[in-house]
Amino acid sequence: MNDPGSMVQTDRLSPDEAGLARAATLLRQGRLVAFPTETVYGLGADATDASAVAGIYAAKDRPRFNPLIAHVDGLKAAQEQGVFEDAALRLADAFWPGPLTLVVPVAPGGTVCDLARAGLDSVGLRVPSHPVARALLSAVGRPVAAPSANRSGRVSPTTAAHVLADLDGRIDAVLDGGSADVGVESTIVACLDGTIRLLRPGGVSREAIAQVIGGIGKVLTEDDNHADAPLAPGMLASHYAPRARVRRDVAEIMPGEAALLFGPMRPRHAERAVASLNLSPTGDLREAAAALFSALRALDQPGLATIAVAPIPEAGLGEAINDRLRRAAAER
Ligand code: AMP
Ligand code: MG
Repeated sequence: MNDPGSMVQTDRLSPDEAGLARAATLLRQGRLVAFPTETVYGLGADATDASAVAGIYAAKDRPRFNPLIAHVDGLKAAQEQGVFEDAALRLADAFWPGPLTLVVPVAPGGTVCDLARAGLDSVGLRVPSHPVARALLSAVGRPVAAPSANRSGRVSPTTAAHVLADLDGRIDAVLDGGSADVGVESTIVACLDGTIRLLRPGGVSREAIAQVIGGIGKVLTEDDNHADAPLAPGMLASHYAPRARVRRDVAEIMPGEAALLFGPMRPRHAERAVASLNLSPTGDLREAAAALFSALRALDQPGLATIAVAPIPEAGLGEAINDRLRRAAAER
């Protein structure tokens, strides 16, 4: 399923009791279901299941792992996943349910998987207002990761027919809830380290956000020079990168290196590795995508200079995996 080579039957579901129950069951089984929100149709997967989230990237043919928005059915569910301080609470209060995504620190015990967070210690959360989305999220009872339900590089879909034009045969179901009515994406605001920053303009205006923040702070944008609000290094990094150097496409392990392997092939001198993990011993790219961030974190121990990575094919999810590793290799 969701391996581009193997087509699946895409069920068209009505947003009635039976359709919603079926969609919720599929999501809880780790399958992919597109559903309407008030912004655009989202391609949903259980945000707590890294393999399900990897399926989103495969279905969309997305060449990069960027963090995904986790959709929940209310502030209480959001607070199980993220830490809401004053500004975030005010914004949630003013604009949820609605087209606002809040990026906040991961809560202790938060269950949104590291692939959905692109390995970051922050989580993007939203409570949509569309009645079908809300009913679905309540029925699932878990956060649902959902980027727009289109193939990478195509426009965001606002009807079930648009979704099918891009993803028929690649996802398990689409819940047809008619037209999405905003048609623009959610506004994204990061509330991290005491600053409030507009990361992406969208359905809620910057002025409306500034008004709610009012007395307690200022809404910074990407253009502000940060002079009055220095950011913690890496706070707005869009991806986790290991501290150790990353060496890719290795045929041989050098003394002192940790090894990140893929498939049954062993590099020469694999016995030299101070630590070794295999992203997928059978060479399954989806399993490898699901394991990528936790494997990097596990190998990236203090004192380790280099993580040596075995070759990973560029096909399918391999493109996004290699993109992340290439950046990690360059970011040193
Ligand atoms: P979308 O493509 O509409 O699902 O929006 C995803 C965008 O949300 C990402 O590209 C980020 O800009 C933002 N986002 C989601 N989660 C995070 C996070 N944890 N940290 C920073 N940005 C995030
Ligand atoms: Mg999109």
